[in-house]
Amino acid sequence: MNKVSIQSPISFDTIRGVVLLNELMSKHTSWRVGGPVDYWFAPQDKNDLSRFLNILPIEIPIYWTGLGSNLLVRDGGIRGAVVCTHGGLSNLEIRPDNAVYVGAGVACAKLSRRTARAGFSGLEFMAGIPGTIGGALAMNAGAFGVETWDLVNEVEIVNRGGDVDSRPRIDFSAGYRNVRLRKDEWFLGAVFNLSPSKSSATRNKILGILDVRSEKQPIGNASAGSVFQNPTNDYAARLIESAGFKGRRVGGAMVSTKHANFIINENNASAADIEALISIIQTEVYKQFQIELQLEVRIAGIQ
Ligand SMILES: Cc1cc2nc3c(=O)[nH]c(=O)nc-3n(C[C@H](O)[C@H](O)[C@H](O)COP(=O)(O)OP(=O)(O)OC[C@H]3O[C@@H](n4cnc5c(N)ncnc54)[C@H](O)[C@@H]3O)c2cc1C
Repeated sequence: MNKVSIQSPISFDTIRGVVLLNELMSKHTSWRVGGPVDYWFAPQDKNDLSRFLNILPIEIPIYWTGLGSNLLVRDGGIRGAVVCTHGGLSNLEIRPDNAVYVGAGVACAKLSRRTARAGFSGLEFMAGIPGTIGGALAMNAGAFGVETWDLVNEVEIVNRGGDVDSRPRIDFSAGYRNVRLRKDEWFLGAVFNLSPSKSSATRNKILGILDVRSEKQPIGNASAGSVFQNPTNDYAARLIESAGFKGRRVGGAMVSTKHANFIINENNASAADIEALISIIQTEVYKQFQIELQLEVRIAGIQ
């Protein structure tokens, strides 16, 4: 990676990764929206990241991203720093004890493919999730009845001072699309438990999963996947469709006609368009069904 030369009041001379000033977050989110962040940083490896955390003045807030596939960054951008793990933190090591160590920046689909090819099953559900392992850990991402934390053995974390530590699964409480993490701690990687399996069987399962996804989801469009969590014993998509929202637009944002829980950036939408559509859906679904839809996507930044 090359460091882009910048004029910054903080010296990043000892940093090997990429540091950019006023970087547009729309380049780093799957919705393709989001204003500028003051400092955008993609570390080259764990040591580089620790050094960055040391150098960055403590009063500067940090937001973490992987592939930005579950993230709505507002049009005013983010004051502070964004650490982007994708590209760095990319170790992937299959271990002899039916386990794999994987860095937070590795794409879920890559991990799924690599473990399948090595003769292990367990992570097939990650095949169509377009995020990183760090994002999957933070969100407890799941699909087809399996969630990320079902397979975690231990995780590696880093704190605001750049200290790295390993923690067992039992230290964490994971629920539907969330996990409790201490303040100012983030994921650097994880060890997942796997089961030996024939590669051909695992590969076929992955292909089946990808087929179902492309049949049911607007895969080629700019989106952040499911916008809302499914309420208990129901589906957000069913409620939104029943409320008549398929195809509804605000500015360049539109409720997908294929899957009502997806909002797509159809035509140069702003984050404000997407957020307005979210709010209209929540109000109308509550009016019609008395159910409060909770967000699955995370919102960051200022308007
Ligand atoms: C087409 C499509 C399909 C999708 N399908 C699914 C699905 O089937 N199941 C599902 O669960 N999700 C799905 N998603 C949503 C998304 O891909 C997942 O939530 C994914 O895990 C997010 O990973 P990311 O790297 O993109 O995280 P980001 O969007 O970059 O970040 C998401 C959250 O995780 C935090 N975070 C990121 N990295 C770290 C880290 N290293 N340490 C601590 N916190 C961190 C961020 O601060 C943020 O709060 C889909 C999205 C799209 C666009």
